[in-house]
Amino acid sequence: MQPEPLLGWKRTYSCGALRLTHVGETVTLMGWVHRRRDLGGLVFIDLRDRDGIAQIIFNPQDNSELFEQARQLRNEYVIAVTGVVEQRAEGTVNRELASGTVELRAVTMKLLNTSRVPPLPINEDRVLDDGLRMKYRFLDLRRAPMQQRIITRHRVGKAMRDYLGSQGFLEIETPMLVRSTPEGARDYLVPSRVNPGRFYALPQSPQLFKQLLMVSGLERYFQLARCFRDEDLRADRQPEFTQLDLEMSFIEQDDIFTIIEGTLKHTFKEVLGLDLVTPFPRMPYHVAEQRYSYDKPDAWVGMVFNDLTSAVSKVEFGAWKTAIQEGGCVKGITVPHGAGASRKETDELGNLVKGWGAGGLFTVGFGDDGAVRSSLARYLDEASTASLRESAQAANGDMVMIVAGPTPRVLEVLGKLRLELGRRLKLIPMPGTVIANPAEQPFNFLWVVNFPQFHWNEEEQRLEAEHHPFTSPLPEDIPLMKTDPLKVRSSAYDLVLNGTEMGSGSIRIHQRPLQEMVFEAIGLDPQAANEKFGFLMEAFEYGAPPHGGIALGFDRLTALMSGVDSIREVIAFPKNQNAVDMLTGAPVEVTPEQLALLSVAVVDKKPAGRSASVPAQEVEAGAPA
Ligand code: ASP
Repeated sequence: MQPEPLLGWKRTYSCGALRLTHVGETVTLMGWVHRRRDLGGLVFIDLRDRDGIAQIIFNPQDNSELFEQARQLRNEYVIAVTGVVEQRAEGTVNRELASGTVELRAVTMKLLNTSRVPPLPINEDRVLDDGLRMKYRFLDLRRAPMQQRIITRHRVGKAMRDYLGSQGFLEIETPMLVRSTPEGARDYLVPSRVNPGRFYALPQSPQLFKQLLMVSGLERYFQLARCFRDEDLRADRQPEFTQLDLEMSFIEQDDIFTIIEGTLKHTFKEVLGLDLVTPFPRMPYHVAEQRYSYDKPDAWVGMVFNDLTSAVSKVEFGAWKTAIQEGGCVKGITVPHGAGASRKETDELGNLVKGWGAGGLFTVGFGDDGAVRSSLARYLDEASTASLRESAQAANGDMVMIVAGPTPRVLEVLGKLRLELGRRLKLIPMPGTVIANPAEQPFNFLWVVNFPQFHWNEEEQRLEAEHHPFTSPLPEDIPLMKTDPLKVRSSAYDLVLNGTEMGSGSIRIHQRPLQEMVFEAIGLDPQAANEKFGFLMEAFEYGAPPHGGIALGFDRLTALMSGVDSIREVIAFPKNQNAVDMLTGAPVEVTPEQLALLSVAVVDKKPAGRSASVPAQEVEAGAPA
């Protein structure tokens, strides 16, 4: 049997579309052989396309030549079949298939293409080697669960576009070749052939362009924007990723929240049939930090931080004493009904906590009878036990998990511990769990507002913008800019979903003097500020409207809505942990001629291996533009 061209054959239905209403109709299906079964003198082919699977039956009594051909079919062969839709006999109905009440009795068939034996099974849903999946991504994407995720991604994007369109937003593309701004993450650079020694950067985000669009009077902008950041690919990052990026004029923070809540409400309804409750709760940054540390609280997990410093101030236990003497603190979270935790469990948590940089985890359990269960029991007299218990708000049966040390460290470690407990106690879905029905997953959104404008960069001994330097300080805090900059609150906000940052944005500065002031505060002298951002500040001098915006992580949101943990599962062609595209092999070396044309030379080339997968390219002449 040789593959043949289509020559006028037309597909009339998709495989997944056949139903009882089609019985008696002659139809043509096209797709891939999912499975072949030779049974009792009949050949059954499960034919698969993007929509689903149809069972095709080849009967030697109808056409013996066709039957012989069907026996030669192998998995992933591509065929077109014309036949008659028949109702399946009672007892042969397949309830797992949408088309399971009918089958197609083949009349003619055309082989469209053959296939080698695929290196990964297309017709089974099981855990596969990641490297293999990446190398054969075109086959991985042929698998039903991957197709579902790609479809979900499309639907999420479409729902967002539809909603924002209905709210007067314009989808506007911004350039991919932009000016390098070393302030954020590391840039991907692109040499300019026609301007030797000069470089474009790939955009880390469309931030400046979207603000300029507001100055241009376009009022409402959005884009599913591709962003590029040359960062080490920790955990679940990709060098290129997609944001739902938007910007609005003549608005305040509440207006942005309303638009985002509306967008997500519409999107969750369209894609998952789920009614999100809006408005989302809001929490000022300082509250989030004191209660949950972290700017990513999962408010519904409960288990807030309790300060135990004064409650245990008289306890003669070395680690606590030192922490307090050195100006630090002792804080704990109380795990309801946690007193029964096994030694193994608390040891595991203790190791995690040490890995996060704390001295250790100290536990004090209260039995159902109120008796103290703790390796520290001998340090705790009656009075300190009572005050610890009161400060920790612990009931009988609860366990208090305590960390001591410098305050910022304690807050950070407890924040992580709290999320870990949330996962272990199944208050937050475990990473890596595939949720069969994402609609059953709790989606808890939360706004964290009023982030500090600056933080102190210990290494460089200077202030740094907490969000980015285009974020406006809260008007009432502007006077503090000169006197106490670390107290200045900004109009930056984060959207948090189930303990994960899902997006961030801010109301922007739209006047030159304030922008200059913020640049100066972060150590950018007026000349440098002008060189790098003069165009923006000049634009502000021509009637810039008040404006603000936000960007949401589109990949991450889609992953959560698909019930998967990794964004690689919802990106058609992702890169691996070393920023390598295992399918095409990018990045690759290029010819000396190509480099010469770009006035670029490669120096200090590392041997092929992990870190050398991205060759170190350095500039021969001239500094990046
Ligand atoms: N450009 C910012 C980001 O990519 C988001 C924003 O402020 O709108 O994080």
